[in-house]
Amino acid sequence: MLEIFYNIVGKECRTGDTSDRVTCPRTGDALWEAPLASETDLEDAVKSARAASSSWAATSVGVRQNLLRKFAAEITAQAAALSGILAQETGKSKLLTSQSLSDEIVHEDATVKVIATRTPLGVVAAICPWNFPLVLATGKIAAGLVTGNCVIVKPSPFTPYTTLKVVEIALNTFPPGVLQALNGGAEIGRGLTLHPGVDKISLTGSTATGKKIMECASYSLKRITLELGGNDASIVCEDVDPASVARQVAIGCLFHSGQMCVATKRVYVHKSIYPAFLHTLVEEFEKIKTRAPVDFPSTFGPLQNNMQFSIVKEHIEDCKARGCTFATGGKADEGPGFWIEPTIVDRPPDDALVVAGEQFGPITPVLEWETEEEVIRRANNTSSGLGACVWSTDMARAERIGRKLEAGSIWLNSFEKPLPMAYFSGHKESGVGGEWGKQGLLSYVNTQSLHIYKDPVLGRL
Ligand code: NAD
Repeated sequence: MLEIFYNIVGKECRTGDTSDRVTCPRTGDALWEAPLASETDLEDAVKSARAASSSWAATSVGVRQNLLRKFAAEITAQAAALSGILAQETGKSKLLTSQSLSDEIVHEDATVKVIATRTPLGVVAAICPWNFPLVLATGKIAAGLVTGNCVIVKPSPFTPYTTLKVVEIALNTFPPGVLQALNGGAEIGRGLTLHPGVDKISLTGSTATGKKIMECASYSLKRITLELGGNDASIVCEDVDPASVARQVAIGCLFHSGQMCVATKRVYVHKSIYPAFLHTLVEEFEKIKTRAPVDFPSTFGPLQNNMQFSIVKEHIEDCKARGCTFATGGKADEGPGFWIEPTIVDRPPDDALVVAGEQFGPITPVLEWETEEEVIRRANNTSSGLGACVWSTDMARAERIGRKLEAGSIWLNSFEKPLPMAYFSGHKESGVGGEWGKQGLLSYVNTQSLHIYKDPVLGRL
């Protein structure tokens, strides 16, 4: 049954003594029951993963890739049903809903050859957020499994359903213990982070959670990858066509209603084109239809949960308290569901919450700049460093500015579009390590340096 959900432990689909129902962000209705994992489930999952670990690590990368393809085919076969569940739990409309790591010779001379070999870490816990539950979980699952690790996924308790279902489907493909899922909140996440049987934590979540995980992981010196919050600046130079760039920037701000780690969260526009740019940006924001039904093809929806709804309302209140001008919007809808209309704040001060913090919602501050040195300094004046964009028809200038921005991913003449082949990482408090691309895969393995002296007496090859 597609709408019954289980924790997946070993080869079992487990219900539990306690369960939870998520609130549908569109309608405010309670969704299905999902069991919450207990401490026993956690212990059993780690035991199963450790039991499966050595034989899974012994399979070849090719075998693992084939199994992942089979798994992908099974998910694809059920895509329509899964996207229906995903739309309900995230609030998205239905629209949104191979590499090998061979040994590497790193040095060779007459005396010694040094080979870098890769071995799996063992058991990886993948702790996921609610904004893109499936794409972020499957990125960790694919990287963890293909490199020979066993993976325990913990979805966000705000969006457990699709992840639990996908891991249940995986029971058809992988040996027991290789891929498991435990639903629950911070306690289960903390339990995985402290557990001596878990070798790595890969978290995508907030900076505050990243700090807690780093502290708990330190007790057993676990490997960690932390993909955390951002405050992306988009810098618009005076040599662009303001209207066409404003239309693109609007997508960067409002995709999934701004609930994206690399959403555009601050827009800096050169003073000479500011009025024309703002005019089109307002037009674009006002074209958005809020409260559209789930079948209406839109990348805009409600906030996913009440907590995030309150955070965005707090940003609006802070702007009001400071007497800021709203170029459009500025109102939360009273419900049902968690809808906020697309909002633009016209030149708020740099210390306003909406400029200095992470709004993670459909409210965008637009700011004016005059000199390159000034805008780079203001864009970098944050503890975040996830992404940034630069728009200019002078490519040398765009690149010069981009290279000076303190962020893990920079887009020149585009809004933020992460690609799986590119390493994705946060600088400063936006993360530790990163995922995707070959460098991301390497974060799921130990590198062993094999020093080969063929002649033990003479030390020569
Ligand atoms: P969150 O930090 O509240 O939760 C993320 C996950 O961590 C959840 O599964 C949660 O249950 C778990 N968790 C919470 N406390 C924990 C603890 N003490 N120990 C272990 N696990 C714990 O984040 P969220 O609200 O779900 O997601 C939104 C945040 O995620 C935003 O800040 C956003 O920018 C960030 N994000 C970052 C990226 C990226 O790739 N850098 C991508 C998406 C979202």
